[in-house]
Amino acid sequence: MKVKKELLQTPRGTRDLIGEELEIWKRVSGIAEEIARYYGFSEIQTPHFEHSELFSASLGDTTDVVEKQMYTFKTRGGDSLVLRPEATVPIVRAYFEHGMQSLPQPVLLYENGSFFRHESPQRGRFREFGQFDVEILGEDLAVAEATVIRVFSIIFKELGIDTSLELNTLGDKECRGSWRKELTSYYRKHLEKLCKDCKRRFKENPMRLLDCKEAVCQEFKAKAPQMLEYVCDECKAHFKEVLEFMDALEIPYRLNGNLVRGFDYYTRTVFEFVANIKTVKEDGTEEVKNLSVAGGGRYDYLAQVLGGKDLPGAGGGIGLDRVVSVLMEKLDENGREEFTKKEKPKVFLIQLGVAAKRRTLGLMEDLRKAKIPLAQSLSKDSIRGQLRLASKLGVLYSLIIGQKEALDGSIILRDMDSGMQETLPVDRAIERLKLKLKESSADGLRIL
Ligand SMILES: [Zn+2]
Ligand SMILES: [Zn+2]
Repeated sequence: MKVKKELLQTPRGTRDLIGEELEIWKRVSGIAEEIARYYGFSEIQTPHFEHSELFSASLGDTTDVVEKQMYTFKTRGGDSLVLRPEATVPIVRAYFEHGMQSLPQPVLLYENGSFFRHESPQRGRFREFGQFDVEILGEDLAVAEATVIRVFSIIFKELGIDTSLELNTLGDKECRGSWRKELTSYYRKHLEKLCKDCKRRFKENPMRLLDCKEAVCQEFKAKAPQMLEYVCDECKAHFKEVLEFMDALEIPYRLNGNLVRGFDYYTRTVFEFVANIKTVKEDGTEEVKNLSVAGGGRYDYLAQVLGGKDLPGAGGGIGLDRVVSVLMEKLDENGREEFTKKEKPKVFLIQLGVAAKRRTLGLMEDLRKAKIPLAQSLSKDSIRGQLRLASKLGVLYSLIIGQKEALDGSIILRDMDSGMQETLPVDRAIERLKLKLKESSADGLRIL
């Protein structure tokens, strides 16, 4: 039986990461992890699937993710599991499962991995998506969300992505009710003119209406009552502290009263980073497009839903697919090479004939152990072709094994700049090469 042709492609909303895009992805991940570690976060890896109830209870029954986007499946044993749609809930679950309450608080964790949502694929959005997530657990002061925002802001700066930060507060149990009431009576007046989804959302949770992306709903969103006008004194003081941190850290922000984020677990601070992507249109004018690349907030009630315990916390995630797509667009060929810079080969290994080819196999391993970055061509057989490739790569030295050298166990070391050659026994050649490479880097020469 043969697999049908249309099934020999990745499922909709997924893709293979290969080549340059994967190199950029890994570099972005590396930078994010390095910065998070520097700021005291430790890594956690939670499983790719969890119990379904974990999410339906904590994200909110009426959220888009729980209603339409979760990949839920039954195991043979009858358990209901789900491919994790986000990172915060599993990390809070892990916090309690491993008794992290007994550690010095707060606990700072980061997770870098794949998450899954059944969404309609669009630019930079996939059904299996990569997210770099940080969480600060056990801290009720504003320094928690300020630290998350700060780490993200440093990551974007380091990546060379121009972003703007949007902030809002959603209040807490004390004050959110009165805002919700106002919001409900405001939207009731306009219910007829809203989109189909908003009519439904209105009955379930009026806050969700501020999340709507439909054009018809925008004018109502703009005039909707803002949470900021209804926050209680404690929430106001907390938010003020967040803003003071932003000023102290010199992170510019914009208040956005419509920013609600998708999940029920958020309280008080929510934030979003938007990438400002400049493109030049055909007529030469510049256009700035905005793409949300990160978001998060505080979630002081989430732990109560999960374990009946109090655990204040704040966190957020960076969408890696989008960040990588921004960089792929922004960087030209040289920029990408510079961004993903790998150690370039310093030595080219040239072999002539079958016996020489056989000899190079062991030699390559010796060179690897000596940590000498190496290039070679298995397809080219002529010395001229191989030398041409070596100078194209800009290596400093070539090692040449011909018929004669293969027989007597020697090797030719060629300085590519001067063209000078010397014949040496293999082990001496490696020592010599190590010394020469060390000298040339000590001279301050740039080793390609
Ligand atoms: Zn709508
Ligand atoms: Zn409040």
